[in-house]
This record gives sequence, C-alpha cells and structure tokens, in this order.
Amino acid sequence: DRLASDLRSAIRTIPDYPKPGIMFRDITTLLGDARAFRRAVDELVHPYAGAKIDKVAGIEARGFILGGAVAHQLSAGFVPIRKRGKLPHRTVSVAYALEYGSDEIEMHADALVQGERVVLVDDLIATGGTATAAVKLLRGIGAEVAAACFIIDLPDLGGAERLRAMGVDVRSLIAFE
Ligand code: IMP
Repeated sequence: DRLASDLRSAIRTIPDYPKPGIMFRDITTLLGDARAFRRAVDELVHPYAGAKIDKVAGIEARGFILGGAVAHQLSAGFVPIRKRGKLPHRTVSVAYALEYGSDEIEMHADALVQGERVVLVDDLIATGGTATAAVKLLRGIGAEVAAACFIIDLPDLGGAERLRAMGVDVRSLIAFE
C-alpha cells in the first residue's frame, strides 16, 4: 500500500555496514523527513489510541526517538531500556546471545510497577534477540507487554516469530526480505 511504500522509500539502505554482507537499514533519513516521521509515529500509535497504556518502553538508541514520540502521543510514561552500565539507579538486567558472544540490557528496577501495561518500541526487529530480552525484562518486574512494535521487520531472521511464540502481539510497518 501507499503508506508502506512512502515509508520504505524514506529508509536508506547501506550495503556492507557495519560489516561485509550486511544490508543496514538506516532510519535517520526517515527521521529527517518531517512527513515520513509523523506518519511512522502516527501508524505506531494508531492501534493503542484509547487503549489503557501506562508506559512505552524504548530500546537504546533509536527506540528512544520513536518511543518518546509514541509515549507523548499516548499520554503514557517513557521507560528507557539501555545497554549495560548506562543507567544510574538500581537496575534489573537480562543477557542475550549475539552472533559472537553476548550482550546485556538493563532497565531501572522501579521504572514500572506490577500490572502496568507497556508497549515496547524499537526501529527494527531482526533475530529478535534484543526484543526478546526486553520482553523478559518487562515481564520480570510484572509488567504486562501489550505489544511490541517496530518500523521494520526482517522476517527472514525470524525475530517476530520468536516474539509471537512468547505470546507477544507483534506489529511492524514494513518488511525487508
Ligand atoms: P535483533 O536483536 O537481532 O533483533 O536486532 C535488532 C536490534 O539491532 C535493534 O535494536 C536494531 O536497532 C538493531 N539493528 C539490527 N539490524 C539493523 C539494521 O539493519 N538497521 C538498524 N538497526 C539494526
């Protein structure tokens, strides 16, 4: 459809970044395009208009930009999920496997209270390693993950399927095969 093709053409693809063979989907061009940015945020927000969403959780770093805008639009709070060691107060963390080695994401332990309804936001889902860890983090402190949403899904990498297998409602605006 029209929306998907408008958003698709606002995203820049950089071959061989950050390493050979990777096609990096760069949303900075979409963010810099006032109309595309607004439409992307409107589209992410749309299903939750009128729904009771307490918080939006955004994954560092591009999930902060999108999640902040989504939270504002939903009149919800914003919770940053960050790479290990960046948050100043007491944190909870979840480790996840990378292609080589592992990584860890963190959130303030008091960022949410039991039973709060959260929408998770990031720019892109690939293998789902990051988003899966984020869902564990949120559920671990008793939050209810209402949905996880992304601008871009790379379906070949299976991340959205992995999240759905955990019972998460997954939405993305466009897919790159
Ligand atoms: P995953 O954990 O394999 O699903 O990778 C998703 C995470 O890596 C997200 O936080 C994305 O921002 C980032 N990422 C992976 N590939 C790309 C890309 O092509 N463009 C932008 N971000 C990417």
